Amino acid sequence: MKKHNFSAGPCVLAPEVLLKASEAVIDFNGSGLSLIEISHRSKDFVDVMEKARSLSLELLGLKDQGYQALFLQGGASLEFLMVAYNLLETKAGYLNTGTWSAKAIKEAKMFGEIIEVGSSKDENFNYIPKGYAVPSGLDYLHLTSNNTIFGTQIKKFPTTGAPLVCDMSSDIFSRQLDFSQFDLIYAGAQKNMGPAGTTLVIVKEDILGKVSRQIPSMLDYEVHISKDSMFNTPSVFATYVSMLTLDWLKNLGGIAAIEEINEKKAQLLYSEIDLNPVFEGFAKKEDRSHMNATFNLAEAGLKETFDTLLKEAGINGLNGHRSVGGYRASMYNALSLESVGVLVDVMSEMERKG
Ligand SMILES: *Cc1c(COP(=O)(O)O)cnc(C)c1O
Repeated sequence: MKKHNFSAGPCVLAPEVLLKASEAVIDFNGSGLSLIEISHRSKDFVDVMEKARSLSLELLGLKDQGYQALFLQGGASLEFLMVAYNLLETKAGYLNTGTWSAKAIKEAKMFGEIIEVGSSKDENFNYIPKGYAVPSGLDYLHLTSNNTIFGTQIKKFPTTGAPLVCDMSSDIFSRQLDFSQFDLIYAGAQKNMGPAGTTLVIVKEDILGKVSRQIPSMLDYEVHISKDSMFNTPSVFATYVSMLTLDWLKNLGGIAAIEEINEKKAQLLYSEIDLNPVFEGFAKKEDRSHMNATFNLAEAGLKETFDTLLKEAGINGLNGHRSVGGYRASMYNALSLESVGVLVDVMSEMERKG
């Protein structure tokens, strides 16, 4: 039986994407060769890379606006240091909204002064700090748009004179935003775009080339741009599946269409969390993520019953991260409204039993 996959990452992918990906592994474009056994310099794969890069910019509304899209390796975690390596000359600002921001701060500190402009650590990151001051003269301000672990999401982005860098690993392509307010966006593919193994980086070219340090080739965005994202062998399979997912999203109607579905899913689940006395939401209401919903059982003693019902319903990946506990339902783009309905039915059954 196909499970309802609420995993926080690697994530659920669209069934038609999985089907096409599996076919390409056996015979890519009728070539008699597998996608993963051909040269990345072959025309067939160069076309894949180009399509993946151009679809990303197109879906974000950033075509012909001075941005480049790259499919790199090393995960979002490598971007924590690449961002600083390429952009940090003296000081940068970071908003600390949880585990991933904290890790980004740790790496960046090796390259310059880091000013934490705000933090929600005082309440175990269950909210997004607001009204914080952004000092002038920053090389950039770094934000995490969606906090995968704690289930919070930035709804309104600060306006500041500094270049804006955003880790969008877990909500890229999920909602409409003015993406041109960002100068650099990065996202590990495995949350909302594809399988693990590649990281999308969208960068405005005019912010590069301004630091005085030497940058090793593999860590230099300008090197990757000059080689059309093929400085070394790219992650062929992950890039291909990301491309298929972006194509799937485009055919669905793009970000506007998926945002509508994502809002319905979030609305359905959060209203159950709020109305059902068996459950309690973790994140502050106004900062709730539409991608990762975090919640707990009001009485810990009900855990066994709930877990059994989840299992019977074929629900996978609902355990909360160890730093929060409880449950986390990740509702990425490819998770259907129907799957959320199945979860909500199990939750209401808990209320009837309780
Ligand atoms: C998962 C995640 C990361 C880490 O991604 P890797 O690709 O595993 O390095 C970073 N930031 C956010 C917001 C994430 O959700």
